[in-house]
Amino acid sequence: MVSVCQENFCCGCSACVSICPKGAIQLKDNKKNIVSKINESKCINCNLCRNVCPVNYPVQTKEPIQWYQGWAKDDILRSKSSSGGAARCLTEKFISDGGEVCSCTFENGEFQFSLVDDLKNAGIFAGSKYVKSNPGMIYGQIKKDLVKGKKVLFIGLPCQVAGVLNYCRDKVDNLYTVDLICHGTPSVKLLNQFFKEHGYKLSELSTINFRDKNVFALNEDVKFTKVGEMDRYSIAFLTGSCYTENCYKCAYAKKERISDITIGDSWGSELVQEESKGISLLLCQTEKGKKLVESLDFNLASVDLEKAIAYNRQLNTPSKRPVFLEDFYKDLESGKKFNKIIFKYCKVKCIKQMIKSFLIKAHLLKVHGGYRVTGYYKKWT
Ligand SMILES: Cc1cc2nc3c(=O)[nH]c(=O)nc-3n(C[C@H](O)[C@H](O)[C@H](O)COP(=O)(O)OP(=O)(O)OC[C@H]3O[C@@H](n4cnc5c(N)ncnc54)[C@H](O)[C@@H]3O)c2cc1C
Repeated sequence: MVSVCQENFCCGCSACVSICPKGAIQLKDNKKNIVSKINESKCINCNLCRNVCPVNYPVQTKEPIQWYQGWAKDDILRSKSSSGGAARCLTEKFISDGGEVCSCTFENGEFQFSLVDDLKNAGIFAGSKYVKSNPGMIYGQIKKDLVKGKKVLFIGLPCQVAGVLNYCRDKVDNLYTVDLICHGTPSVKLLNQFFKEHGYKLSELSTINFRDKNVFALNEDVKFTKVGEMDRYSIAFLTGSCYTENCYKCAYAKKERISDITIGDSWGSELVQEESKGISLLLCQTEKGKKLVESLDFNLASVDLEKAIAYNRQLNTPSKRPVFLEDFYKDLESGKKFNKIIFKYCKVKCIKQMIKSFLIKAHLLKVHGGYRVTGYYKKWT
């Protein structure tokens, strides 16, 4: 089989799929990795796919020139966001100024990308989706709009920002990019399997919520665990137990970034009274990014960058590949249940959650929805 990039490096950004004039490329999701497969009978050897691929041609990273922590001045908007509402504020400001925004939505069980130029639709992107999303053919649409002279803001995972930057290489003046600090993504097939084991279909959900501020748990229409206990999917995600192979060697998990603006959580903030309502961390790598951030309807406060990095491991290094990864996927292939596999490999975390649930039931512990995290790894490691 011929593929666009080296095995286990493909991030599924889909730039190759978008650019191929013959529709010869397919992203094959093997759960453990993504393979950008070239159909040789359709291929005309133009090499556009290989040239656009950020694995083959990495995007240059830049040091942040300015950094802030903060939160949306609008309390409702902030409460509907995962963190301090930076993404939503950027979206609304950009649309109000006449531009359009491209980001990830959850619709019909799929985590795909849409372009929005109407404030009425600015809410469709809200919330972190802790799964590998699929940009599909959206880069082509973005490039067309840039060529027409429109301003476009792209918000996505760092590898997807790399994809859009390579795709629009010669037309980036009006392109603004925001990447999320990211500690890795599992294949959507794992999320599907998890739901299926609980008798639900992702495609039947109208909404999905992976997190309520600093409480991490899948909730919304359905519940998977006893009150206060974190579900096994969230345990697997937070412990980095089942990302696709490329995530463990992510080239973008460092302080130097590829985007105009990087957003994430301001873990370890000294502004403790704001923590439960969500505080965003914002890093600006370019003057245009800085200008945009400083124009937002946002409470901006200074932040100690070195401390923020210390609390956010993904600003330093990719997630550590678990020693059990091969066995995890072998177990999955053999038909074992996702829940059981997570218990097998994350026993201590799972037992902790079961004890917590028991203590809540016995009124010895106060209820909250999932696992309270004040730093993705602070309490986990
Ligand atoms: C997989 C993943 C891992 C993350 N890991 C970390 C981390 O280790 N440390 C940290 O500080 N922050 C991390 N974040 C970012 C954090 O969860 C918040 O999304 C971020 O702080 C922005 O919050 P917000 O309140 O500004 O906006 P939100 O309301 O969270 O909006 C998020 C924006 O990102 C887009 N988005 C959400 N999920 C995806 C996705 N799967 N693919 C592409 N775009 C998406 C949405 O469409 C929206 O535009 C991660 C996010 C994701 C999706």
